[in-house]
Amino acid sequence: MTDVSIDTARDWDHSDVLRHFRERFALPAKVVYLDGNSLGALPRDTALRVSRVVNQEWGGDLIRGWTVHDWYNAALTVGAKVAKLVGAADDEVIVTDSTSVNLFRLIFAALQMQPQKSEILCEAGDFPTDLYVCQGASAAYGRGRTFKMVPRDRLLASIDDNTALVLLSHVHYRTSEIYDMHAVTEAAHRAGALVLWDLSHSTGAIPVALNRAGADFAVGCGYKYLNGGPGAPAYLYVAQRHHSRAANSISGWLGHARPFDFVDNYEPAAGIRRFLSGSCSIIACRALEVGVDLMLEAGIDRVREKSRRLSEFFIQLVESECSGYGLKLVSPRHADCRGSQVSFSHPRGFQIMQALISEFVIGDFRAPDVMRFGFTPLYTRFEDVFTAVARLRTILDDERWKDPVYAVRGGVVT
Ligand SMILES: *Cc1c(COP(=O)(O)O)cnc(C)c1O
Repeated sequence: MTDVSIDTARDWDHSDVLRHFRERFALPAKVVYLDGNSLGALPRDTALRVSRVVNQEWGGDLIRGWTVHDWYNAALTVGAKVAKLVGAADDEVIVTDSTSVNLFRLIFAALQMQPQKSEILCEAGDFPTDLYVCQGASAAYGRGRTFKMVPRDRLLASIDDNTALVLLSHVHYRTSEIYDMHAVTEAAHRAGALVLWDLSHSTGAIPVALNRAGADFAVGCGYKYLNGGPGAPAYLYVAQRHHSRAANSISGWLGHARPFDFVDNYEPAAGIRRFLSGSCSIIACRALEVGVDLMLEAGIDRVREKSRRLSEFFIQLVESECSGYGLKLVSPRHADCRGSQVSFSHPRGFQIMQALISEFVIGDFRAPDVMRFGFTPLYTRFEDVFTAVARLRTILDDERWKDPVYAVRGGVVT
């Protein structure tokens, strides 16, 4: 048993420098939300911002909004804000489309930059869309491009002269394990390979230093730790040194050097703008901006510090309160090696998670046996961690997860 009581947890909340951020989110009263790594919570300002964009900007100004409200540059201006969270220059990031589509664009661009090499290298068991898009992009590219997946522990040793591109999730969606971005990028560059980092579980969770690591490309998600809302636009990063050589395979008009000349032949814009294809959703982009602004205001270092404390506390409580029930820590034990989520495996993890959700503790489950608990320091309290583990313990103790209603599968699991 740990000697930490709910009062201690509340004391920690009381002295938490980020405690006021919780009030900036609309959270249902009873819920302990530990799934902000999958869909971030709703910032209160988002509803106001979206209403203003819809009613005043769109409703009032119609097409003039593209200039008077700077809709035209929104993908770049919000991108510049995301850039600050990932250690990039302002003109290296844009907000656009989905992570999956951005993956395709950047994989294709990398392959074109590497005519002498044939292979895309990925980690087996990485997030499915990354693997699927690699398969699709290498098939679409044709001309002998191949796709290889290797286990994590063989990844570095598998980079060779034939590797065109290494694509990896910086923080693994299932285990939360962090790659050493600097070391992997360096190893890839030594072999002449380019690297594309998926930051979906990194941005807004841990500090990221793309430029310092020498990264080539990156993509990531707007609706997880950035709290941009369901299906929020994603972002993409291209290092400045590649801007003139990297091509956008979806060469749409808004990536043209002079889109309003309406000429027949494509000529890419000079900087990151060339990675735009078509018009972005301004409503969605402004909603995402609210989430990004909140994260910038909080400061990623303070967020990371609290995230480490929350997850340490969670692991310590689960292992002391729920020992003997077959839960196994899947995430790295050392906080330096772990993102902002903690995963435990259990052969009946699905049922246990369903039972937990019915007790208003929302985490999620990843087949075949992983229960994920995400810690989002802007709105997760130490008290929430305490409550979550207390309810988990009750469910394991009285075995209510064995109720057949919790074994019903189906539906969306994102
Ligand atoms: C969540 C996630 C995505 C999501 O892709 P979408 O195109 O937004 O659906 C992609 N990659 C990783 C690693 C993710 O965690």
